[in-house]
Amino acid sequence: MLDDRQGFTRSFDPNCTHIPFEVFVTDRILHCSIRMVSRPVPLSELVPMACQLSQVIIEATSRRIEESDGRIACRKGCAACCSYLIPISPAEAYHLRDEIFKLPQLEQKTLFRSCQHTTRQLVDHRIPDILFSPTQEHEERLEILSDWYKVMNLPCPFLVNHACCLYDSRPLACREYFVTSHPSLCRPESTEKATRVPMPLRIAEVLAETCRILEDGETSILLPLLPSFLQDNSRRSWALYPAEQVVSTFLETLNDYTQRNCMSGCDESAK
Ligand code: SF4
Ligand code: SF4
Repeated sequence: MLDDRQGFTRSFDPNCTHIPFEVFVTDRILHCSIRMVSRPVPLSELVPMACQLSQVIIEATSRRIEESDGRIACRKGCAACCSYLIPISPAEAYHLRDEIFKLPQLEQKTLFRSCQHTTRQLVDHRIPDILFSPTQEHEERLEILSDWYKVMNLPCPFLVNHACCLYDSRPLACREYFVTSHPSLCRPESTEKATRVPMPLRIAEVLAETCRILEDGETSILLPLLPSFLQDNSRRSWALYPAEQVVSTFLETLNDYTQRNCMSGCDESAK
């Protein structure tokens, strides 16, 4: 990866618009490239590329599962998992805003009303104090928060007539959650745990960290709080950054996550 990383740096030539990079996924190297425009960009423009990259990794992971006789249960229209807590990065929030405004007015209103309803329920249900304990690790906090949300049994505000109303633009957290067990195990009331497929690299996390570095702000927003976040951060959501800065930050973060995953994978296999 270090050699590849030097490769990216060398290709930051103002005349070069294709930035090649490689991603190590499971036992394969995926050769990719980013087409970089020569103008300042909003962070929302990172999202389609991040979704494509995520899709490439999901497909490579799924192929590997299928080669070992596993079967991915997730399909469009299956929505038993759409009552879980969905964190999105600021870039995804800005991108979703643009996608929501393409919906018919009535659907936009329903969606915003549904977000307001869920937000009220969140405010009424006190967050467990243990979440603020300094002894809790980040992963444990996420699990407590997720369990707290699950008991409220709140359908996602984007779920309209049992289907995601923005399926093609759904958040990375939704795309990168997929299972090999029966969909009934994904229901919040199921006592048996679903068999989640471990992603070798979560682009949702890479994008969230890229936003944290570029904006020097929070990394994640809860999906139902999207309208209030956009209202409170209107100027920030339209901020422009040099494309080189955005692409290099994304690729450096991707590289850091790949190396970190690689190291924890090596530790696991050494156990
Ligand atoms: S995670 Fe479960 S409920 Fe969601 S799409 Fe996959 S099988 Fe269906
Ligand atoms: S955004 Fe769409 S896919 Fe994700 S939880 Fe909500 S309804 Fe389901």
